[in-house]
Amino acid sequence: MPTPARPDDPILPNVPRQRVLFVATMAIMVLAGLFGWYGIADRRTIMDEGIEAAEQMASQTALIAAGTLESGEQLLHAMELLVKPPVAAGRPDPEAVRAALLDLRNAAPHLMDLLILSGDGRIVHWTGSGTPPSVAEREYFTAHLRSGSPLYVGPPQLSKVHAGRWFFALSEALRDPAGGLANVLVVIIDVDLLRERLTLRNPRRGVSQALLSEDARVYSRTPDHERHVGKQLPLSAERSAVSAGNPYASTVTVSPLDGQERIVAYQHLRRYPMVAAATLPVAELLAPWRKRLTIVCFLWLALSAAIVAIARRAATISRMQREQASLDGLTGVHNRRSIMAHADEFGRVLDRRGELSMLMIDIDHFKEINDTYGHLAGDDAIRRISQLLRDEVRGSDVVGRYGGEEFLVLMPDTGTEGATHVAEKLRAAVATQVTAPRPVTISVGVATSARGERSLEPTLTRADAALYEAKQAGRNCVRVAQAPAEPAGTTG
Ligand code: GH3
Ligand code: MG
Ligand code: MG
Repeated sequence: MPTPARPDDPILPNVPRQRVLFVATMAIMVLAGLFGWYGIADRRTIMDEGIEAAEQMASQTALIAAGTLESGEQLLHAMELLVKPPVAAGRPDPEAVRAALLDLRNAAPHLMDLLILSGDGRIVHWTGSGTPPSVAEREYFTAHLRSGSPLYVGPPQLSKVHAGRWFFALSEALRDPAGGLANVLVVIIDVDLLRERLTLRNPRRGVSQALLSEDARVYSRTPDHERHVGKQLPLSAERSAVSAGNPYASTVTVSPLDGQERIVAYQHLRRYPMVAAATLPVAELLAPWRKRLTIVCFLWLALSAAIVAIARRAATISRMQREQASLDGLTGVHNRRSIMAHADEFGRVLDRRGELSMLMIDIDHFKEINDTYGHLAGDDAIRRISQLLRDEVRGSDVVGRYGGEEFLVLMPDTGTEGATHVAEKLRAAVATQVTAPRPVTISVGVATSARGERSLEPTLTRADAALYEAKQAGRNCVRVAQAPAEPAGTTG
């Protein structure tokens, strides 16, 4: 098995891996950005649609309420004819007026009482029985003393006559030519009329519709009319902002009625002092969006995982390619380019690293092996020797094939003595262990870098010279190059 090159291989620096990591991180971030943008845009679209739906419902509610109040006004006009009959008809008969009032009331199911008041607030005609009570203090009368507006729409009130029933009054002032109050016509309407009409049009789950007075009293609210009728709501800025002149407003707020966050749309009825409101609960509205967001998050996670997997695969392939480029095909040790790159790298940090020794190794009489046993046998011997070299040196040493049957071993942090010892060990190991196709030996030149040297080139030259010496000395031996500063000993 060839030794894989070390990850910090200096031939091909680790740039592709960093680039792959960078590209993968960028891709994941871009995806996060895209998905995040989609999520935000999707939510905005849903909220915009929700606001539009609430506005439409408020409009619908306003139409229903306006229709109801218009019928009340028509009733008032009918009553007006009873007190202002054509000139020829003379003064109306009280009994006939009462009968007509009863007819009018009975024709509509939600009318509680019809009253015709005199200019000083006494009941002149009515649909009730017994002695008429004094109503001169009632708002539906006093309002006409204060204001010149002919129509008055009262707030929701709990009836004293009809227990447990909520009503509101609609009243109209009839004035004499001098502008004095001649009569006040009053229609007392059960708020159930509004409740029933709203309930019929309640289209979506979680939706609420309400009719409020201008000062935020609830006439009716669906659902849960009973719980909310007559309640005074806190005056929100949006609700106070709507008026006949500025009839529309919408907002997202926490409802004071049920504590839910809701989209609220208001619409003033324009002709009447009433505000229609429609709300959509935000949580319900956003439920499908949340589901989509969860799916998008999972999608992002899955894509990120895929990107990470692809990036790791790419980094592995690039590492393997780097390894391939730095290894010798026959032996699996570093090739010449790689071992020289290591030498350069070691040379660069020589000052900091201290000593470095190198062994230049050449197989003895190798040509004979080739010639006698063939090139394949020669290859095999080269392979076995390189394997042995690798097995015998430290993990921090670097073994490379320098030429055909020449090897270079770089030994960082190793002095002459240690290097010579290793060289001898290698020589002996080859001599005793590599015996096929016949005993093979090596010669070794040892050289150690001098202190302060900034390049390994002189050391390489000295190692080469020492190897030559070893060959001259008869081969199968180790020779140590003289250090430039101090003479070095030799061993054989
Ligand atoms: P010396 O003891 O002086 O080193 O003698 P030598 O025969 O080993 O020296 P020489 O340089 O004359 O011969 C080296 C031979 O190694 C020559 C070449 O054919 C052979 N050789 C080089 N690379 C390979 C290889 O990859 N495979 C094989 N089988 N032979 C190779
Ligand atoms: Mg040679
Ligand atoms: Mg040789």
